[in-house]
Amino acid sequence: AVLKRLDQTLSNLGYCSRREVRIWLRDKRVRVAGELTKNAALKVDPASVTVDDKPLDHPGDILIMLNKPLGYVCTHDINEGQRIYDLLPEIWLGRSPQVVSVGRLDKDTTGLILITDQSALVQKLTSPKQHVNKVYRVTVDKPLDQTIIEQFATGVQLISETEPCLPATLEIIDTHTAKVTLNEGKYHQVRRMFAACDNHVVTLHREQFGHYTLGDLAPGEWRDLI
Ligand code: URA
Repeated sequence: AVLKRLDQTLSNLGYCSRREVRIWLRDKRVRVAGELTKNAALKVDPASVTVDDKPLDHPGDILIMLNKPLGYVCTHDINEGQRIYDLLPEIWLGRSPQVVSVGRLDKDTTGLILITDQSALVQKLTSPKQHVNKVYRVTVDKPLDQTIIEQFATGVQLISETEPCLPATLEIIDTHTAKVTLNEGKYHQVRRMFAACDNHVVTLHREQFGHYTLGDLAPGEWRDLI
């Protein structure tokens, strides 16, 4: 990767503005490869920089999985309530490029959401052409019967969509619980698929996205994937 200036490096990682970097340098808070510097223009490897003798937080790319709790929204808009980004280190809110979710989960949906600062990765993982598998555990209002398996496998026709959904896999776990595997991601897709089959989703939890699975990650917790 191309090395960036020290002031740009610290501002892009959310530490402070480029102007503030000069003050930090003067106050001897910043070291590069262990040496104090006053040169804001110095080209640096972010992994070699310390502030107050601590290495920089996530000096490289970010890709994490979060177990999204109920009631959180996948948006940066501070007017929409509790944001998934509020569960992450505060310094990340100042990063550039911005840290964003790979697609979205509804406010009332829990489970696996990927978060990254790599827009190319977001494009790749959300592209309709890539058919990335998403696995959901769903509980519903009305008892499930075998016919819904066939409906999902054929391709459910959603209200106000021209094309039916791609074939999806539905496995009945118990009378009111199913595991659903999709390889596309339309708006509110799982809820709308069950509505189209005359049922109603009560709880919706994503267990898997592509080859990533939640494992024992607790609600509100996240972990690095790179
Ligand atoms: N399908 C939905 O309806 N909601 C989600 O959050 C994810 C998939």
